[in-house]
Amino acid sequence: MSVVENLQIVLEEIEQAKNNRTTSKKNEPVILIAVTKNHGVEMMREAIDGGVKDIGENRVQEAAEKFKTLDREVTRHLIGHLQTNKAKQAVRLFDLIHSVDSEHLAEAIDKAAGSVGKIQDVLIQVNLAKEDSKSGVYEENLQSLIEKIDALKNIRLRGLMLIAPNYSDVENCRPLFRRMREIFDDINKTRNGFDFLSMGMSHDYKIAVEEGANVVRVGTAIFGARNYF
Ligand SMILES: *Cc1c(COP(=O)(O)O)cnc(C)c1O
Repeated sequence: MSVVENLQIVLEEIEQAKNNRTTSKKNEPVILIAVTKNHGVEMMREAIDGGVKDIGENRVQEAAEKFKTLDREVTRHLIGHLQTNKAKQAVRLFDLIHSVDSEHLAEAIDKAAGSVGKIQDVLIQVNLAKEDSKSGVYEENLQSLIEKIDALKNIRLRGLMLIAPNYSDVENCRPLFRRMREIFDDINKTRNGFDFLSMGMSHDYKIAVEEGANVVRVGTAIFGARNYF
C-alpha cells in the first residue's frame, strides 16, 4: 500500500469514528498529524502532496535536518519530549509544541520565544494514567501549571495532549480518552483559544476520535513500521 492509499484509509476511519461519537460534538473537525519520525523527508513530501497539512516530529535535531530540505508549506508539530536546552531551536522550528509538562520547560520556551520575537503555541501533556515511563503533568497539578503559563507573555496555551498507555486491549484506553475530553471541556468553558485536544495514535486513534479527540498523531498506519538504527 502506498502512503496516499494508507492516508485515504485513515481519513475514512476518522470520518467513521466521528459518526460514532456519542456527544453533541459529532461534527467537530479532526486534524490529522502525519508523524514522520524515523522516516526520510521524501515521505514527508509524499504525505503533503497527498493532502496532509500537519506534520509531527518527536526530536528537535531530526526535525531540523528534515525541515531544512522540505520545500513545502505545512504546519509543524513537536510531539515528543522537549529538553529545556533545545527550547530555542524548537521555537524556531515548530508551530505547536505538544509536550509542555513543567513550569521549568514553559519558562524556557517563553524565554526562547521572546528572544526570537514569537508567541509560541503550546499544549500541556497530561499523564492521566500516572505511568512512570511517560512524561506529562498529573491531573491534580494541571490547574497550577495553567496559571503559571498564563503569567508568561510569549507562550500561548492552546489545549491538551495525552499519550494513552499501551494496553494490549485498546478498549481500555476509552475511559481515559473520555475523561480527558471532560477535563478539556471544563477548561475550554473558561478560556478563549483553547481549541486542541491531541490524543490518539495508530493503534488507538479511532477510539480517541469517538471520545472527542480533535487532533490525532498517526505514524505507522500511514508510513508503515519505522526502522530504528
Ligand atoms: C511516534 C508517536 C506517535 C505516532 O505513533 P504511531 O503508533 O506510529 O502512530 C504519536 N504520538 C507521539 C507522541 C509519538 O511519539
